[in-house]
Amino acid sequence: MRKHSGRNLVSRLSRLLFYTAAGFLAVVSAQATHQVEEIADPSLPDIAAVHFEPGRTPVILYNPILCRQAGPALCEFYRQHEYGHIELQHYKRDDLTAREKESEADRWAARHAPLAAVMAAYRFFSSGGGTTPVHGNSQERAARLLTRTEKIQVARSPLAISARAL
Ligand SMILES: [Zn+2]
Repeated sequence: MRKHSGRNLVSRLSRLLFYTAAGFLAVVSAQATHQVEEIADPSLPDIAAVHFEPGRTPVILYNPILCRQAGPALCEFYRQHEYGHIELQHYKRDDLTAREKESEADRWAARHAPLAAVMAAYRFFSSGGGTTPVHGNSQERAARLLTRTEKIQVARSPLAISARAL
C-alpha cells in the first residue's frame, strides 16, 4: 500500500470528488455521441459546426486553428454544443426557431460537457464573447450555463472538499 502525505491525499480526494460527477456525465455523453465523426476544416468560419446531408449521419466540423486560439476547454464546449444539435435532432425539427435550437444546444452542452469546458464557456460568455444574432447575446448564453456552474462552485470550495474528505 502506497503512503501519501496529507497534502497529496487532500489533493487526490479533491480531484476525485471534482471529477466523479463529470466522469459519469462524460461516459453518458461518450455513449450517446461516439458514432459522430469529427472532421478538421481550417476554412470553417466558426470553431465548430454540424454538417447535415439528407440520408447521411451528421458530422461535426471544427476549425483546428480557431480551436487552438480559443483553448482546448472552450473548444470542447463548442464541440459539445454541436453534439447537442445532433442529440436533440435539430436537423429534423421544424417546430423550433433557429434561436430556440441554439439555446437548447447551449443547455445540452452545459449538462454534458466536462466541467472545465463549461467553466471556460461561462468565463468567455460572461466577459462578452460568443454573441451572435442566432445564438443570443453573451449574457444570455452565460445564464444558460448557470445550473451547472453553481454546482462547480460548491465542488471547488476548499471547505466543502476538506469537510467531505474528513
Ligand atoms: Zn449551434
